[in-house]
Amino acid sequence: MNTIKLHPSIDNGFPATGNDFNGGVLNCQCKTDKVSVKLTAQTAHNHACGCSKCWKPEGALFSQVAVVPRENVEVIANQDKLETIDESAVIQRHACSVCGTHMYGRIENESHPFYGLDFVHTELSDDKGWSAPQFAAFVSSIIETGTDPKDMNAIRERFNQLGLPTYDCLSPALMDAIATHIAAQNKA
Ligand SMILES: [Zn+2]
Ligand SMILES: [Zn+2]
Repeated sequence: MNTIKLHPSIDNGFPATGNDFNGGVLNCQCKTDKVSVKLTAQTAHNHACGCSKCWKPEGALFSQVAVVPRENVEVIANQDKLETIDESAVIQRHACSVCGTHMYGRIENESHPFYGLDFVHTELSDDKGWSAPQFAAFVSSIIETGTDPKDMNAIRERFNQLGLPTYDCLSPALMDAIATHIAAQNKA
């Protein structure tokens, strides 16, 4: 039995990405008057994240977070319940003020490498076919929020068993994207 609780959507394996999937609805965890956010596109770069800023379900060591173009994100119910967690953060996380669930994170700085992409947690959707997790990012960061460093080998091993490579920053593809963006800005 594996007792490591990485994330409820990852611990027991996960379905493959739906090929023809084109989005769905995310709901907050309130029993009534749920905040609903409609995504009109498939997500990308879904991954487990160990940073202290991403929203995590109760008891999980990691969040699960993906990106989607901001023009494909629309709040369709109870928008008045949304509040911004930290106005000064690079990623403005819009959360339900009642249950605390983060509904989407948005970058307003137009020169940021990920400007134009919103960060979302597709586990908040009942729809099936969302992009499957591909890797774990910022793994070492969970030590900052209380994980014993001695547990890290077992945690990385568990990710590897599940087929998810672990990184202590972002994945090589995303780090390359950031560096490419900075190189282009340096030339401009
Ligand atoms: Zn809520
Ligand atoms: Zn994170």
